[in-house]
Amino acid sequence: MADERKICLKGSGLTKVYGFGRNQMRAVDHVDFEFHESEIISIVGESGSGKTTLAKMLLGLISSTSGDIYFEGQKRDIRSQKKKQEYWKNIQAIFQDPFSSYNTFNKIDAVLLDCIHMRGGKKLPHEKKLELMSEACSFVNLKFAELTNKYPFELSGGQMQRLMIARIFLLKPKILIADEPTSMIDACSRATILDMLLALRKETGMTLIFITHDIGLAYFVSDSVYIMEQGKFVEKGSADHVILHPQEAYTRRLINDVPKIHEEWDLSTV
Ligand code: ADP
Ligand code: MG
Repeated sequence: MADERKICLKGSGLTKVYGFGRNQMRAVDHVDFEFHESEIISIVGESGSGKTTLAKMLLGLISSTSGDIYFEGQKRDIRSQKKKQEYWKNIQAIFQDPFSSYNTFNKIDAVLLDCIHMRGGKKLPHEKKLELMSEACSFVNLKFAELTNKYPFELSGGQMQRLMIARIFLLKPKILIADEPTSMIDACSRATILDMLLALRKETGMTLIFITHDIGLAYFVSDSVYIMEQGKFVEKGSADHVILHPQEAYTRRLINDVPKIHEEWDLSTV
């Protein structure tokens, strides 16, 4: 049966080569993909397999060496700053280290206010802006009143990652890339962050591209899985297909590398 869902992001032969001559390395090597609207996709691979490089190309933070990206059926054009800004209304990211993606000298209310302005809310009355910011904070269990005068570096890793999710709540992009968003925070915040991301996905219907080295987590959260090895997608398909019936030795190794997979995520019941 043909897949009826609309494709929101498509890549064809997407490649990124770093360095020159003998020092050349193909971080991403001719990957093809089709991500559908409202789908949860996991990109799974070992450290160094090219996941973050791919995420940065999808976001338009780095250029590709070759290949094409299509957004909603059109070849993506972000050559001008204005077009880039437009594109970023549609696609946003949460990174592994929430502090790295940030200008830490902006106070937290300025960070959130920026999101409202990006969504065209510049002319809203101040009261309304405060209401939106408080709503976004309560969604992630943060108290806006306690944050207004703080700087991001005054927050814990878990709180900071929640603030990143509050930003996404305000920005409401069509696509969110979450690049190992839980790998640098303490175990007890991890499940909360994941729950919040999934709740936000449910509420907004956005496409979620989840990047992880944890294939157990990928199985738990996603509809489709892409397995990445040395810059290539070596296996892709539905989460059930790829993880319960892996064809590649590399995929089987990723599964075996997570010995707790069957304990933490009971595969028989999900
Ligand atoms: P992952 O996110 O899967 O761990 P990355 O995309 O960060 O992988 O990296 C893929 C490969 O590209 C690695 O070998 C890494 O060292 C290399 N790489 C990443 N960024 C750069 C860069 N700016 N310059 C040169 N090499 C890079
Ligand atoms: Mg990475």
